[in-house]
Formats: sequence, C-alpha cells, structure tokens
Amino acid sequence: MSVPGSTLLPREPIRTTRIAEAKTPAEEEYQLNPWKDATDEEWEDWRWQLRNRITKAEQLKLLLNLNDEEVAAIDVSKGRMATAITPYFATLMSRTDPNCPIRRQALPTLEEFHVSPHDLLDPCAEDENSPVPGLVHRYPDRVLLLVTDKCAVYCRYCTRRRIVGSSENCIKEDELDEAIGYIQATKKIRDVLISGGDPLLLEDDHLERILAKVRKVPHVEMVRIGTRVPATLPQRITPALVNMLRKYHPLWMSIHFSHPKEVTKEVRRSCGLLADAGIPLGSQTVLLRGINDKPSIMKRLMHELLKIRVRPYYIYQCDLAMGTEHFRTPIAVGINIIEKLRGHTTGYAVPSFVIDAPGGGGKIPVGPTYLISQDKGKMVLRNYQGKVFEYQEPGAVDS
Ligand SMILES: *Cc1c(COP(=O)(O)O)cnc(C)c1O
Ligand code: SF4
Repeated sequence: MSVPGSTLLPREPIRTTRIAEAKTPAEEEYQLNPWKDATDEEWEDWRWQLRNRITKAEQLKLLLNLNDEEVAAIDVSKGRMATAITPYFATLMSRTDPNCPIRRQALPTLEEFHVSPHDLLDPCAEDENSPVPGLVHRYPDRVLLLVTDKCAVYCRYCTRRRIVGSSENCIKEDELDEAIGYIQATKKIRDVLISGGDPLLLEDDHLERILAKVRKVPHVEMVRIGTRVPATLPQRITPALVNMLRKYHPLWMSIHFSHPKEVTKEVRRSCGLLADAGIPLGSQTVLLRGINDKPSIMKRLMHELLKIRVRPYYIYQCDLAMGTEHFRTPIAVGINIIEKLRGHTTGYAVPSFVIDAPGGGGKIPVGPTYLISQDKGKMVLRNYQGKVFEYQEPGAVDS
C-alpha cells in the first residue's frame, strides 16, 4: 500500500523500555515483561496492544505487586466501569508503589464505591443537552459528537464513566446520519468536536467516513478530535492515520495528559507525527489529588508538553462523577497552580483552569486575581511577584 507523503515521515522503529537491560533495582521496577514473547512488530502494532489489554485481576497480579484491597477492587469493579490497560501504558507503572501516578489513574480502588452526596451520574448534564443521540449541543456555535464509548485505557476519574466502556461499540450509522442531519440543519454550528470514548480507536476508514460527512457541511469551519490515545496507545498514531487526518484541515486535536511520566519517547514520536501533519495540538488535564496536584508536577508536565509541540489548553477541576470524590482537590489547589505558572514560566505553558459547571453551565474559568482595586479609572494591579502597579484608564477625569 502506498501512502502519499509517507516517505517524509520518520520510519524508525519504536524502541521500548521493555527490551532494555535492567540495571538498577529502580530501573528494574519498570522492567515489567509478561509480553517477552511478543515480537517488536507486535508490540508496535496498535491492534496487538488493544487485543492484549489487561482487563482482569489475574493478569494484573502477574504484573504488579497488588495488595488485597487492590485485588478486591478490581474483582468487584466488574459490571461497573470497565478496567482496561494497554501493555504499553502498563510498562509506565511502578510494580510496587500503589501511589504511582500512572497506576492510580487506571487501577480501580475500593474508594470508587464510596458515593458522596454531591456525586452526579451525569455531572455536566450532557444528556439534557443532547438533541439527538451521540450529540451534545451546549454552546450555540459548537457541538460535541460522541462516536464511540471505547477507550484504550479507562481513567478511573472519567466524567463520562456512566457510558464509557459499557458496550465498547461505536456510533451506529443511522445515529450518525441523524447527528449529521442536526448539524446540517443548525446553521450556527461552526465547530464540531469529535470525542467519545476515544475516536482514534476507530479504524482509519471508519473515522474518515465520519470526518468526510462532517466536513461536507458547508457551515462547519473546523473540526476537533478529543483523544487520550496519543498518550495511552501511541502506536495508534501511524503515518497512514495522519495522512488521512491531514486531508480534513483545519483539524485540531485536544490530547488528554495527566502526568509528566506519560511523555515518553513513544509519545514524543506520536505527537511529532501529528504536529508534522499540521494538526495544532492542545492538552487537557484533569486536576487529580495525589497524582498531579502539586505545582512542580504540573509545571513539569506543561514543559514536557511544549517540548513535544502540545500547547497546554485546559486544566479541569475534577467533575462530580460518581465515585470520584477521592480524586478531587479544593478549587484553591488549581488556582494556586496557575499562580505558580503565570509569569514564572513561558506564557504558552499556562493553560486555563476551568470548572465544568455541574448541571450544564459549561466551562467556567477560575484563576488568581491580579486586579486589586479600581477607582475612577485608576486600576491597581499586582504582578506575579506580588509587586503593585497602577494603570490609568483613558477617559477618566483627574481631580
Ligand atoms: C468542552 C465542551 C465544548 C468545547 O469547549 P471549548 O471551550 O470550545 O473547548 C463544547 N461542547 C461541550 C458540551 C463541551 O463540554
Ligand atoms: S480517555 Fe477520556 S473518555 Fe476515556 S476513560 Fe479517560 S477520561 Fe474517560
């Protein structure tokens, strides 16, 4: 098969830590190798990675030193939100530390069974704002099109945990046509955000059929894809995929990242391919207690993202999804993270911190206050160091 433009793209095989020699006990901790019989070709094949996802406690027990509580949580999580971990993502986990940030994102715990009185099944009231199945229309000029409920790895804090992983099916053809019909009939929609689940788990030709249908609507000015796959299944980002995507420009991508440890050489390659195809990349990060709630960790993540040409876009306050209270921090934690970024580092490294309003109000930005007071156009401001400055607005009368 010949793919136009593919000769311009790097072809070097992906080397994984899996095949490196263990050197120190610390390094050895990450030498998880139950897939030692897999060939490099298999390991680099996204379909192999998906087929070999870890979904059961018995498989995890071979891989990690689980405590009894973790085993119990995985066993009882059946029938609730699915557990699935790609072999690639599992190699980023600590074998021994239950507080490993990668491990905590993907392994169920008994804390998930605690339902707080504030928890909501549909925290952002997406179902109420759904004019047709698979479509969420909250803001006048843009819609969210949910094309699958399947993800490569299920995040325990998922805001859409009421639906993700339940069937691992993608949108039916007649539902898709109904959604496209709605977009066609609603002239104000200029931006279509394709999400899920994870749209990049669809086969290239299937995703292309959806993109082509969306693109054919004359008033749709731009398309966005929301995905976590470049971080959890970087093997999925192939030259063939990016060559297909680049035909549908302007196409933007928001990639979900949680921790600087996720930015590996495989991820650098996957984001490099996307960026080289002219796809502007933004990041979305959920603020998670004990995982990324320290300014130093968040700053490292933002710097790692800029290095791979991903522009930090949003940090989200963790939604009130069922059984996720243990992941939530006070809002002040997020505001303090922005305080520690703005002015202290590259402006591009500073995302917006937002709360997706419970009940469906949309994303509300919150952040440090730099305007101290205003009086007859005399604006008193403080900078990132706390130094105070005055700015006189035009049109004010001096007395
Ligand atoms: C987040 C979201 C969007 C996109 O919001 P932006 O701020 O434009 O990125 C659109 N619709 C829904 C329902 C959303 O939750
Ligand atoms: S990748 Fe997104 S949709 Fe999938 S489980 Fe994680 S947060 Fe939910």
